Amino acid sequence: MLTPQRSLLKVIVLGDSGVGKTSLMNKYVYNKFSQQYKATIGADFVTKELQIDDKLVTLQIWDTAGQERFHSLGVSFYRGADCCILVYDVNIHKTFETLQTWHQDFLRQADPINPELFPFVLLGNKVDVDGGNSRAVSEKVARDWCASRGNIPYFETSAKEGYNVDDAFLCVAQTALAAE
Ligand code: GDP
Ligand code: MG
Repeated sequence: MLTPQRSLLKVIVLGDSGVGKTSLMNKYVYNKFSQQYKATIGADFVTKELQIDDKLVTLQIWDTAGQERFHSLGVSFYRGADCCILVYDVNIHKTFETLQTWHQDFLRQADPINPELFPFVLLGNKVDVDGGNSRAVSEKVARDWCASRGNIPYFETSAKEGYNVDDAFLCVAQTALAAE
């Protein structure tokens, strides 16, 4: 019998404080959501196993402990990342503007061999808020941002309602695998 291939993929999640990075991870890994603001889940990373075709994939998803406020995530946070998830809050325009800085920070700190081909995935989170009536960034503007950066995959998500969360992380795994 064939032994399935195994892959361990390091995934890091970047974006302004409060956009829902920890919530998205918690929803995906534990299927839990909390309104309470918690700056950290108290661990460097959480893991989730999934199967893609004949491959067993372990996603090692790294969270920050709130240091993103100061843009001071250590080198070990970035080092060896196989995929970088960028997150903004669709209701707060500033968090979309900062994406550019996070994108650049990542490329500078992680210094991937082929920056043009490095797998990023963008998540526009909190689409549930106010039934979508408080949106500050349109889907079109977000998709254009992605298109002008080598066609970064884009998902609109709600960690609160679980909307698109599994699909987004599946795409993360697929994109990272394809780049391996
Ligand atoms: P982080 O600083 O990026 O890790 O953000 P958190 O995950 O700590 O979330 C910040 C706040 O936003 C918390 O109060 C969460 O409950 C809330 N939150 C996160 N995701 C969503 C979402 O999709 N919808 C709504 N309504 N609230 C969210
Ligand atoms: Mg957090």
